[in-house]
Amino acid sequence: MMIVMKAAATEDEIQAVIGRIEAAGARAHPSRGEEVTVIGAIGDIEHIARLDLEGAPGVDHAVPILKPYKLASNQLRGGERSVVEVDGRLIGGDHFSMIAGPCTVESRDQLLTTARIVRDAGGSLLRGGAYKPRTSPYAFHGLGTDGLKLLAEAKAETGMPIVTELMDVRDIEPVLEVADVIQVGARNMQNYTLLTELGRAGRPVLLKRGLSSTLEEWLNASEYILKEGNEAVMLCERGIRTFETAYRFTLDLMAVPVLKQLTHLPVIVDPSHAAGRRDLVLPLSLAAAAVGADGIIVEVHPKPDEAICDGPQQIVADDFAAYAAQVERAAELAGKALSAVPAG
Ligand code: PEP
Ligand code: MN
Repeated sequence: MMIVMKAAATEDEIQAVIGRIEAAGARAHPSRGEEVTVIGAIGDIEHIARLDLEGAPGVDHAVPILKPYKLASNQLRGGERSVVEVDGRLIGGDHFSMIAGPCTVESRDQLLTTARIVRDAGGSLLRGGAYKPRTSPYAFHGLGTDGLKLLAEAKAETGMPIVTELMDVRDIEPVLEVADVIQVGARNMQNYTLLTELGRAGRPVLLKRGLSSTLEEWLNASEYILKEGNEAVMLCERGIRTFETAYRFTLDLMAVPVLKQLTHLPVIVDPSHAAGRRDLVLPLSLAAAAVGADGIIVEVHPKPDEAICDGPQQIVADDFAAYAAQVERAAELAGKALSAVPAG
């Protein structure tokens, strides 16, 4: 249920409604818009309806939230976009974020070289996996805690916040020490225990779309994080499985404008994992910016031919500045401004 307060509702009236929702065993999720406060009441619908909040002081009206995902739903925010703040960088709304870095942290030199190039080209966040989901159990699975240490060093040197994947709840503590944004990989999109734990951890989450998940399944997955009180959730379209075999996955760019109708959450696009091929990364990035993506997460490597993982799709680091400049121009045409890097 969604409780819309009157524009003139006082803080005491808002708190009283929250108190009544919680006393009925439901959870109250207030969102304070520019004009009115809306309180999402999530729990047993009959209990909430029996509270008869429509008659309470300060309440304008109450309406059911029609979608199965409630907190992710656009209805709850009345069209207002969520903007996630990561260390002073704003993601979502009118901002465009360039998130870049290697697929996997392989060595100090590889990571730091890439990080400097990404920072100098105006990248807003640095990506890099220390725990890697790999199709083969015999493949390299990342440097683990040693990789996290290198990410911490790259952050200390460049000032760029870190996006890195958490695959297993058992690794949450060391990952939380380093990650400014925790990535949930496509294969873990429906790992509900992991999602719930990340909801409680309170750190921004980049939730990738499952390889064959519908938008509704994806938004329901985001709801697991939001439901625990963590509002800093970003979605990432990274390509889905279709009958086409000419490329690795099919990048579902139609998902971007459709998600904007369904949810207030920022939507990032990952052209690298969708394409699996470097030559497709620029055209897909331009298209993603044109359809209104809130940012790109792209793989970059100083020597992709020597990369341990995902070499063919990683952009050559020396080409990154030119790539980023073109994508940013497309984002500007779509009405977005490059997410400013805080001074100092
Ligand atoms: C990644 O971004 O490193 C990754 C493994 O992506 P995905 O989970 O989308 O395959
Ligand atoms: Mn990769």
